[in-house]
Amino acid sequence: MEAPQTDVVSETNDQAEDLDPFHISHQQFERAAVHMHDLRSGLIDFLKSPKRSLCVCFPVEMDDDSVQTFHGYRVLHNRLLGAGKGGIRYHPDVTLDEVRSLATLMTWKCALIDVPFGGAKGGVVCDPKSLSTGELRRITRRFITELGDNIGPHTDIPAPDLYTNAQTMAWIYDTYDIMHPGRNNRPVVTGKPIDLGGSAGRDKATARGCLYAAERFMELAKVPGLASLKGLRVAIQGFGEVGSVAADLFQDEGAIIIAVSDSSGGIFSENGNGLDLEAVQRYKQEHGTVVGLPETRTITNEDLLQIDCDILIPAALGNQIRKDNAGHVKAKLIVEAANGPITPAADDILYQKGIHVIPDILANAGGVTVSYYEWVQNNENQQWDLGDVNRKLQIKVYRAVDAVVDRWRTLNSENKGPDETSTDDIDHPVPHADGYVDLRTAALVVAIRRLTDITLERGIWP
Ligand code: NAD
Repeated sequence: MEAPQTDVVSETNDQAEDLDPFHISHQQFERAAVHMHDLRSGLIDFLKSPKRSLCVCFPVEMDDDSVQTFHGYRVLHNRLLGAGKGGIRYHPDVTLDEVRSLATLMTWKCALIDVPFGGAKGGVVCDPKSLSTGELRRITRRFITELGDNIGPHTDIPAPDLYTNAQTMAWIYDTYDIMHPGRNNRPVVTGKPIDLGGSAGRDKATARGCLYAAERFMELAKVPGLASLKGLRVAIQGFGEVGSVAADLFQDEGAIIIAVSDSSGGIFSENGNGLDLEAVQRYKQEHGTVVGLPETRTITNEDLLQIDCDILIPAALGNQIRKDNAGHVKAKLIVEAANGPITPAADDILYQKGIHVIPDILANAGGVTVSYYEWVQNNENQQWDLGDVNRKLQIKVYRAVDAVVDRWRTLNSENKGPDETSTDDIDHPVPHADGYVDLRTAALVVAIRRLTDITLERGIWP
């Protein structure tokens, strides 16, 4: 199915865009809810609201002998399908609203990819780049101690996210295990190192899920110019755990990685073969950034988003493509490896430009899927082969893409399609309810429908 092709450039910003992540997730939810008129009154309100939000504040001894106070959050959005599941991020911009929005996304993601988990998320307000390994370890241990029994192998299970990794997960496991001796605590956290019960393939699972989602979508949707990954030009914002692996995996399938970036800026390869990814990795390890790699042109993160490419993969922070820059995006397809990189107003602009977006709850669900496989292996004291993990992951991602594309087509045939001759002001786009349905809305309809069905099957208690 093709979105209309128009040349839309929006620079007007007369009305400030609401970038509050929790408001954005509500807006996305409302766009989906209008396609579910038959839902029992009140059910939607219940599904939107996080079940529990914890705010903790704790002291940590720093290397210079000072004591610093840190604030952390853990939000459990919903446990309808099973234990809460969601990463923990360390970043100076973490807020309770951001964590609530990310926990909400996790609920939809788990329902869509069909793993028996609910949604949760956590974060600590800190600047990991300025912290030593010892400081990070003390912050992690104290944060987990503060969360106490609000996390657990069958209640709420953390995982890695922005600026946390397998080492952080090992500290979380160790802290929880010391507090709960005498039982198998491995399933309390996923994304652990392999020798502590981590799963083969978890480190690459989020990026691999992006690859599978893109391949399957291209196969089903038959978007002109996107027949196969071979020779497609790909730009990736963020060169961390997800972005750097996505670069390797897309390149392995024949794509050309023309640009990547990190928090210091980006690099663009003018050479027709794209970037030498091993050289990028080496340079990043030595210099802490990709910027400055010889034989590349330095660009800004803003330039990267606007680069002439076939596939754009945002793999860093939220709210990167907004009303003020969406009009400049030139990719044909965006694969949301990051959570929440595109605002609702930007979604409308991208749609009107004919750019398809594989939404975060589908594109990056590979991470939580293999986290689920890790949890199953931990509960059964098993260790699966990498081949088994990747095969199972591909089946889940393909099934979810099939369900979303099917719903997308059905909803668009039920709804009045967009008027391609419309002169509507793109700053005041037609509400989704009145016309087109994008992939994000279709994905949410699939996820919310599963959750409403389950809520009613379980029954409202008492
Ligand atoms: P990471 O910390 O390993 O990497 C983040 C990357 O983003 C780094 O390269 C960093 O330099 C870059 N970055 C930071 N600020 C930036 C900025 N202002 N502009 C451009 N780049 C910037 O984190 P990650 O685990 O790769 O997560 C990346 C995204 O993927 C996040 O949105 C996260 O929520 C999402 N995600 C991660 C997983 C997972 O399994 N790790 C799963 C699902 C979704």
